[in-house]
Amino acid sequence: MRSIIFDRFRDPDLVRKICDEIKKNASNINLMEVCGTHTMAIGRYGLRQILPDEINLISGPGCPVCVTPTSVIDSLLDLKEVTIATFGDLLRVPGSKGTLEMARGRGVDVQVVYSPLDALKLAEKREVVFAGIGFETTSPAVGSTIIEAARREVKGFSVLSAFKLIPPALDALLASEDTRIEGFILPGHVSTIIGSRPYDFIATRYGIGGIIAGFEPVDILEAVNELLIQKREKRSEIKIGYRRCVCSEGNVRAKEILNQVFEPTDSLWRGLGWIKNSGLRIREDFEPFDATKKYDIHPPEIEDDPRCQCGGVLKGIIRPNQCPLFARICNPKNPIGPCMVSSEGSCAAYYYYER
Ligand code: SF4
Repeated sequence: MRSIIFDRFRDPDLVRKICDEIKKNASNINLMEVCGTHTMAIGRYGLRQILPDEINLISGPGCPVCVTPTSVIDSLLDLKEVTIATFGDLLRVPGSKGTLEMARGRGVDVQVVYSPLDALKLAEKREVVFAGIGFETTSPAVGSTIIEAARREVKGFSVLSAFKLIPPALDALLASEDTRIEGFILPGHVSTIIGSRPYDFIATRYGIGGIIAGFEPVDILEAVNELLIQKREKRSEIKIGYRRCVCSEGNVRAKEILNQVFEPTDSLWRGLGWIKNSGLRIREDFEPFDATKKYDIHPPEIEDDPRCQCGGVLKGIIRPNQCPLFARICNPKNPIGPCMVSSEGSCAAYYYYER
């Protein structure tokens, strides 16, 4: 079954057919793929190389690790006598005082977990702070773990919530004078949770189209073709291309959990600055599980390494290989910025697939 599904979305004949359509419809256009998984897929399958030159694919801010500010890493590193539980992709992200991986080398108890429930299990025997990094894809699972921690009265469990919301970031990008985005390839994973409606403002307020796309070559190429057709026909609509996983309402239960546990708050994005109501903080009802309250954490404002151009990369103003440090000084073994660390980071995608 699995291979039948993937065969359809990687079928070379179908890819050729869509590419022929794209050539017919091609015009100068800047399209942003919001999600880091799209950036990786574009690199892995060589899609940029098979598209006409007029189509400029630019990477957006959809890699959660890449947009997590230095201050969050530093706040985790400042914690004393607790276990820090995190997903593995945060380990090597640089803060101003090093990385969680370095701290682990110095004896700090940093545990890589595969689910927030693993962190909750650890917290039955010790104090655990879970690093709450991610978008709407990740936060509902963490929200339901907080509900479970409350139900079981696991007092050792708390979350440092640095979760981010994608639609306000897209709004901020479109409102910025720096960017020239003419269409979005919208994130498939996030949209399984939030659905398509939260993106409607992109079309109604900014007159720009967006297609929620899956992660196979056919998904991405069909999205590109649809955006070219919309431009030619002077239409701007938000459409779901990833129908096998996304519906306009999203996942109603996951959204209920999000609303029950979290509320929107202004949030600092690495490279993009503060964006209104683009983050999630834990509601008062769940205050015992809020690490910022439990450990009196006030993340300091810290300047990013001035040599790193992640801000320009995340806004789509420059390509990773236009950063003077790219591949010379900054590489996955020696990352200067988070865009080179994450398996979804634009700089890493360019390093592995487009050098
Ligand atoms: Fe930052 Fe390295 Fe990317 Fe340059 S190549 S923008 S230094 S992560």
